[in-house]
Formats: sequence, C-alpha cells, structure tokens
Amino acid sequence: MTAGPHAGPCVLTAAGFQALHGFTTRAGGQAIGGSVGHYARLNLGLSSGDERAVVEGNRDALLGRLGFARSEVCCFDQVHGDRVSAGDPGWFVEEADAAVTARDDVLLVVSSADCVPLLFHDPVAGVVGVAHCGWQGTAAKLAAKVVLIMAERHGSDPADVRVALGPCIRGGCYQVGEDVTSRFAAAGHPASVWRPDPSAPGRFLLDLPVANALALAEAGVRQENLLDLGRCTHCEPAEFYSHRRDKGLTGRHWAYVSLRGPGDPGPEDASGGAAALGGAGRFQGTGAHRGGRG
Ligand SMILES: [Zn+2]
Repeated sequence: MTAGPHAGPCVLTAAGFQALHGFTTRAGGQAIGGSVGHYARLNLGLSSGDERAVVEGNRDALLGRLGFARSEVCCFDQVHGDRVSAGDPGWFVEEADAAVTARDDVLLVVSSADCVPLLFHDPVAGVVGVAHCGWQGTAAKLAAKVVLIMAERHGSDPADVRVALGPCIRGGCYQVGEDVTSRFAAAGHPASVWRPDPSAPGRFLLDLPVANALALAEAGVRQENLLDLGRCTHCEPAEFYSHRRDKGLTGRHWAYVSLRGPGDPGPEDASGGAAALGGAGRFQGTGAHRGGRG
C-alpha cells in the first residue's frame, strides 16, 4: 500500500501513473460525502435526482481535500459526443466528453457511473487528458482521438503516453442489442469486442474496456502503458455507482488528473486538508473483478 498526496480512502489510483490523479468511489464509511440512500455517499453528479446542495457540498469536500478551487477545475457537460475540450478552467460551461492540456494549474475532471473513465499522462511532453467513454464515445474511438490531439496540439509521442482505465461496467455485465454492435462494426471495431449473451438469445455482451484498449493501441499507446484498474462498477455495489445495475437511481464518480506536482499541493494543504488524503491503497490488475456475469 502506497500513500500519495492525491490519493485517499475514497479514491483509487493506478500504480505507475505518475501525475496527480484519482478515481473516486462511493467512499463507504469514510467521513466524506453527505449523500444518502441510493446516492450514498460521495455522489458527484446532479443528473440523477440527488439534492443539488448535497452534491455541491460533496464536490467542494473533494476539491478541498485535493487542494483545488472550482476556478481551477475543467469540467463540462458530457453529451456522449467526441469533442475534446482545450482543457482550460471552466465549471460546466461547455459541452465535451474529453479534454487535453499542458497547463499545470488545472484539474481535468470527467464523471461516470458505468461509462469508461480514462486518464492520460505524457510525462515527457508534459501533457494530461481525460475522456468519458460510454458506448457511443467508445464506438467513436474518442480515446484514440485524445492521443492524437495530445500529439497534434502538444507534441506528444503516443509511445510515451500512459493511460489509466478506471472503474466501469465490464464485458461480462454489459448486455446490448444489435443496434449497438452494428454501430461498432460500422466504425471498424473487430467483432471480438462483443459476443452472444448465452443467457439472452439475440443479445450481446459488449466489452468497452477491450474496445478502448484496441483503439488506444491503434493510436500508438504501448500495451504496458495501459493501466487498467480492472474494477467493475456493476459487480461492486458497495464501492461503485452503476447506472445499469441501479436503473438510473444512482450517483456519479469523478475521475481527475492534473500536472500540478506533489510539491505544490495547493491552498488547502496548509489547513491539513490534503494530508487527510494519505494512506490510500493503490489498485491495479484484474483480480478484483468477480466472476459469473461480471
Ligand atoms: Zn461486472
């Protein structure tokens, strides 16, 4: 177990990913997050019916612990498109599903509850990125587009780019119809990213992490630089929100990344806020994803 200034009991991190980053969880019994019921506890999304004041308080509690002000956050209204934001600070003022920046004073954020959250870091060129890839963003190869934009706008070599793939609904749990698989086929994805669901004739199990991994490989990301936490939102109700499992009555996680160094932890550190995030576990690998349909 390794502590980090950007980690915490409510946050998962990817071993080997060097930039400040994290994937929030529901936070369990930790003293952060005030949402209750279906949304307990650290719900960071407003789109599913939780109380606005509580969600805003959860966001401020997390940002306070990370040492970022809202004015330093780049978050956006996610629309299942393929637009990549320029990554400047903005609090839900633009529509996008990804962002890339070389600034070291911005926290990039995406939210999700089954969709694939991806964090990008090029430690050589000094660039970070985020992406929110549901089935539409995955079909559109948004992950590959982020890598391309890191190269075009900021001079990244894709071989230097690390990508952390956070908690999401995984291949054994994500049943879709032919309307979805046909979109993947039309976009050039191999048929290996879905398979017939043995329990439901005419339905398919679609593997979003594998489809994103293939798109990233096509974009030049090296296999050893894809850091998959291996966690399934659908399988782990105590840890994660799942839109599919909970039929929409659930919360949202945040995934975040910043180029700000650990030596510059931000204004909250002086009050001890950031220090409260120490002692986190780091997670990597696929062992935590349970069997069966998971
Ligand atoms: Zn699962």
